[in-house]
Amino acid sequence: MILVHIDHDLGTRAPGGVTGVDPLSLQALAAARTLDDAVTAVVAADGDLPPAAAAELRAHGASGIRVAMHPGLADYAPQATARILATLVEEVCPRAVLAAGSARGNEVMAHLAAILDLPLATDCTQITIGPGQSEVTRARWGGNLLEEARVHASILLATTLPHAFPVTPAPAAGEVHTWTPQVPDADLLVRVVERVMPTGAVGVGLSEAKVIVSGGRGVGSAEGFAPLAELAELLGGTVGCSRVVTSAGWRPHSEQVGQTGTKVAPDLYIACGISGATQHLAGCKSAKVVVAINTDRDAPIMQVADYVIVDDLHAVLPAVIEALRQ
Ligand SMILES: Cc1cc2nc3c(=O)[nH]c(=O)nc-3n(C[C@H](O)[C@H](O)[C@H](O)COP(=O)(O)OP(=O)(O)OC[C@H]3O[C@@H](n4cnc5c(N)ncnc54)[C@H](O)[C@@H]3O)c2cc1C
Repeated sequence: MILVHIDHDLGTRAPGGVTGVDPLSLQALAAARTLDDAVTAVVAADGDLPPAAAAELRAHGASGIRVAMHPGLADYAPQATARILATLVEEVCPRAVLAAGSARGNEVMAHLAAILDLPLATDCTQITIGPGQSEVTRARWGGNLLEEARVHASILLATTLPHAFPVTPAPAAGEVHTWTPQVPDADLLVRVVERVMPTGAVGVGLSEAKVIVSGGRGVGSAEGFAPLAELAELLGGTVGCSRVVTSAGWRPHSEQVGQTGTKVAPDLYIACGISGATQHLAGCKSAKVVVAINTDRDAPIMQVADYVIVDDLHAVLPAVIEALRQ
């Protein structure tokens, strides 16, 4: 059996049919299905699993669903979640525990590894489990290096690189079992207690966005992002940016794409005034189509883009917006 930690936003989910299940966790579920028929999704929450969320987990191959219910789990609580996973590991002795290689998934699994005194392989793109030894391929250095490693452990703890395992429907009959775990107060010291939405948030998360209009130093200022936000809204997408932009305080870190930001996989990535440093490309290399707008035809982003516009973004974006509005 394989346990898969399912991250979620069940407590804060927007109304209107969104299940709150983290899409990257569904990719970890897809990875687990390639390794074993028995895949148990583990959810830590403060209430019953909504039927739509359970249905989504079943549709993606969960042959079992375990829900740990505790009032302290109303929102993200990494150490408490790891403690719950550790309890379950002792109970069911799985071959592996997987989670999404997101910042949150990696943090929960690091706690789990510390509790169980086992090694953790993060950002895996391939996994083979053997008795007492597993083999993994992991993305290192922002995806510029693929490392093949052997993990010597009785239970493999691993996270899956975002967008490395495609999510395909695989209906399973996962029955929901709910239990109330013991969670020591010390495990709840670090947890999300309040959320404040940034002003101007358009509601689509970077990692799920189908269209991202991303800006770099070439945008010039915080105010310069107005046309990018307008274009993103017109295309039903969201705004992203480079690290120079977050360092300058023009946009929040939650919008940063790259090695130390979010890894994205939109259908369309429009890079405006972004040079295409390797650390930035590490975050957007899974985009299906890249359009680059840059005054420098030799900028590295022009080598990886599907379409390039060699011009001033301040002239190009208003023209694109105007054309779209017409
Ligand atoms: C450990 C580490 C981690 C990092 N992680 C990240 C990360 O996660 N994400 C990230 O983005 N960076 C990251 N970086 C930083 C990265 O190396 C680059 O410095 C950064 O991506 C550059 O941002 P930029 O493309 O906006 O700026 P620049 O490299 O300065 O490029 C600006 C571009 O805008 C163009 N331009 C200027 N004016 C205009 C105009 N009017 N119209 C059109 N084009 C114009 C220029 O020709 C140029 O190509 C990291 C660096 C390190 C060392």
